[in-house]
Parts: sequence; C-alpha cells; structure tokens
Amino acid sequence: MADSEAAAPMRLVIFGPPGVGKGTQATRLVERLGVCHLSTGDALRDAIRAGGANAADLKACLDAGQLVPDELVASIIVDRLDQPDCRRGYILDGFPRTIGQAETLENLTRALGSALSAAVFIDAPDEVLIERIAGRRICPECGRSYHMSFAPPASPGKCDADGAALEQRGDDEPGAVRERLRVYGERTAPLLGFYRSREILVEIDGVADVDAIERQIAELLEAHAR
Ligand code: AMP
Repeated sequence: MADSEAAAPMRLVIFGPPGVGKGTQATRLVERLGVCHLSTGDALRDAIRAGGANAADLKACLDAGQLVPDELVASIIVDRLDQPDCRRGYILDGFPRTIGQAETLENLTRALGSALSAAVFIDAPDEVLIERIAGRRICPECGRSYHMSFAPPASPGKCDADGAALEQRGDDEPGAVRERLRVYGERTAPLLGFYRSREILVEIDGVADVDAIERQIAELLEAHAR
C-alpha cells in the first residue's frame, strides 16, 4: 500500500461463524494496519477471570453457547470506540453479532463522524468449523489461542508465553458448539444482508490456510478502499 493511502484510518468489523478464525485474522490485521483490536469475547472472558459480581452469570451464558444481552456488549464498545487509541482505526472482532448491535454501532459511528471502512465476512462449512474448534486450546492466564494440529505450542500442552497448562474453552465443548452454530445462523448471519445493503461487505473464503486468508483479506480491503 502506498504511503498516501495508508493515512486513512481503517475501521473494520470482522464476523463469521464460530471457529472460522476471526480472532486469528483480527490479530494479524491489527499488526498489519497498526489499529486497535476490540474483541467482545476477550473482554467478556477477562470479566469472568476478574471474578466480579456478574462473572458467574456471564460464564454460564458463554459456556452454554448463548449470546450475552445486546446492552452489555454495546456498553463495552461504546466505552472504547471514542478512546484516543481507536482514532487511528480499529477492528471489531465478535461485535456486532445481532442486527440490533449493528444498528447501535451504526448510530455510534454516525455520532462520532467516522463510518466503518468495511465489514469483513469470513465463512467456512460446518465440518471445517467443528474440526478447528475441537483442536483449539487456550491459555487460561494470558488468553493466547493454539490449535493442537495447525498451531501447536512449542512444548505440548503448555503456553509458549507463560508456560501455563492449556485448556479447552468451556464453549468449545461439542454441545455448546452446536448451540453456537445454531445461534449464529439465527442471529448473526443476517448481518450479511445488513452490510451488503451498506455496500461495505468484503467476503472471504475461510477454508484456506491462515496465511492465504490473510493475503485474501489484505487484497480485497485494498481493492475495496480504491
Ligand atoms: P468469541 O470469543 O467472539 O467467540 O465470543 C465468545 C462468546 O462471548 C460468544 O459465544 C458469546 O457468548 C459472547 N459474546 C461475544 N461477543 C458477543 C456479542 N457481540 N454479543 C453477544 N455475545 C457475545
């Protein structure tokens, strides 16, 4: 990308079914674009680890594969988007997940005078998602994510960063995964039509390997920005 083009802040939404690799691609885009990364899933898991008054209710909701109420996640985003670090751009990873959340975001960006640059939609068939989720392990200390076959830690079962024993996310258990896929189809998939009608949708094939998906996103974002 030429220097003159790099100046405009990128404000992105990244969405798709559970296990498609949104978090991995969001992390890579953050490095590539130098923008801030806002993951509602990470914020909720941090809140559960911190053990506040509603931590047990939140954990039960996540472990069951359900969505938390719109107002709760919206408040996480509203608090962050107006912070100085987000003015050079941001990636919203896992938000919005419902049409109501998308409308809240649209009102917010309108009020801030900074419309979204693109909504990146990554998709893959259920069997690919289920295989990816089954092998996923996370570090309970730092939240870093691994895959037993595709992105294993250097030392089996241990986090590369802090050596903590890796765990399976509660909502990566098979029963919760089925529910997350159902909830995704019912509540989140309609975002495809929402962002298509706003003419900011960028569609990505999520079956390829991580590097190929990253290249695909970079190319399509560049073409979209022209
Ligand atoms: P993620 O890490 O994005 O897969 O999110 C993990 C879980 O956090 C989801 O399955 C939901 O239970 C909850 N969550 C994250 N983002 C949202 C959101 N925007 N709306 C409602 N629930 C959310």
